[in-house]
Amino acid sequence: MSKVKIATCSLAGCFGCHMSFMDIDERLLELAEVADFDRSPLSDIRQIGSCDIGLVEGGVCNAENVEVLRAFRRNCRILVAVGACAINGGIPALRNRYDLGDCLEEAFLTGLGVTDPKVPGDPELPLLLDKVHPIHEVVKIDYFIPGCPPSAEAIWTALSALTSGNIPQLSHQRIRYD
Ligand code: SF4
Repeated sequence: MSKVKIATCSLAGCFGCHMSFMDIDERLLELAEVADFDRSPLSDIRQIGSCDIGLVEGGVCNAENVEVLRAFRRNCRILVAVGACAINGGIPALRNRYDLGDCLEEAFLTGLGVTDPKVPGDPELPLLLDKVHPIHEVVKIDYFIPGCPPSAEAIWTALSALTSGNIPQLSHQRIRYD
């Protein structure tokens, strides 16, 4: 039986959803029997290739996030939003109520503890978007696993279904919104 290919990424996220994924513990070995990892912090592959399942953590806060997310959509047959930040912007989206210029000013020029007031301007830094967006506002998403982070059990349940070609069904007990 050929293995399915999985890619994962973190956009504007904290890697907490990836950590929760790792909490499936020894079932990672079970997963390794049916799946290979393409681009992912778990594989250290940087360029995504053709994949069956893409797991996306984090919202979209800058131009690089848009690029990565679009590459995931182009290359993944099934794309899954993992966690609150991917689904509704989560904690990074708390800045949406403020003007971006005010945020930069507070963070780098006038805020508490600023010692060398200067807004970073290195051309290698990705351009910030005015607002942080949930990923479904940028590309089509097939499934959503809520939670901050979703539990390892929820991620395992969804992945088990997807790797065996089924539709993931999360019971009420598996779904959380905190
Ligand atoms: Fe981190 Fe929570 Fe966002 Fe996941 S949903 S990236 S755990 S803040």
